[in-house]
Amino acid sequence: MNDMNQSKARKLLAVFAHPDDETFICGGTLAKYAAEGVEITLVSATRGEMGRRMGNPPYLNRETIAAAREKELQAACDSLGIGRLMFLDIRDKTVEFIDEESLTARIENLIQDIAPDVVLTFHEKLGGHPDHCSIGKATTAAYHRARCKGALYFISFGDRMEHPEPYGYAPEDILKIDVSDHLESKLAAFRAHRCQSEIDEWVWLPDSEALDRFGKVEYFINGDASAPILNSGDLFQPAGSRPVMAGVNH
Ligand SMILES: [Zn+2]
Repeated sequence: MNDMNQSKARKLLAVFAHPDDETFICGGTLAKYAAEGVEITLVSATRGEMGRRMGNPPYLNRETIAAAREKELQAACDSLGIGRLMFLDIRDKTVEFIDEESLTARIENLIQDIAPDVVLTFHEKLGGHPDHCSIGKATTAAYHRARCKGALYFISFGDRMEHPEPYGYAPEDILKIDVSDHLESKLAAFRAHRCQSEIDEWVWLPDSEALDRFGKVEYFINGDASAPILNSGDLFQPAGSRPVMAGVNH
C-alpha cells in the first residue's frame, strides 16, 4: 500500500473486446486499483453491437444497441473508477478478420504513449470468444514489440485458474487479487450494463444477496514468460523485476 505515496501515478492499460468484459471478468480488480489512485485506460475494440442480449424485455435493436452499450460502458467505468475509455471502432464479432498487423500497430502506439505499468488483455487461446482471442493476440504482440517495461497479464473467467494445470499453467503463473472490498463497485457496474445483465435475476436482488454471488478473488495469468511473478497478490510488480529487453515471444 506504500505505492500510494509514489509521486508518479501507476498506470494500467486494459485492452478488451466488448463493453462488459471489464466488469464481468475483472471489475473488482479494476475498482480496487482505481480506488488506490491507479490511472486506468480501458480500450474496448468494439461496441458490442452484435450482442444477443437486447434488454429484458428487449428494448434495443441492431440500430440502437451500439450507442446504448457505449453509454452503459461509460456508466460502468464511472462505477469502477476508470478514468479513460477508448474504442478501436471495430465491428463486433469481426476482430478476427481485422488486419492483424495494423491492429497490433495501433495497440503498440497506445502502449508507447501510455507506458503502462500493467497491461491486461485476453489469452489468445483461452479467451473463449473469437473477438477475445484476437484482441488478446494482437495486444500480446504489441506488448512485446513495444518492449513494454510493465507487466502483462491475461484475464480469466471465474475461478477456473484455481487449478491452472489443465490449461498448461503452474500455480506460480497465477496471480490472485482479493477484491472483497470492491464488490459494491463491481455490482454497480454490472447494473450499469443493464441491457446485458437485466436478464440475470440475481444481479437485481437486494444488494446483500447479489453481492454474495461474487467470488472474493479474481485471477490473472502471467502473460510474460520472461518475467516470473515476484509479488503475488498484486498486479504491480517490484521495480526492477522486469527484464530490460522484453523480447521473449513465447
Ligand atoms: Zn466479451
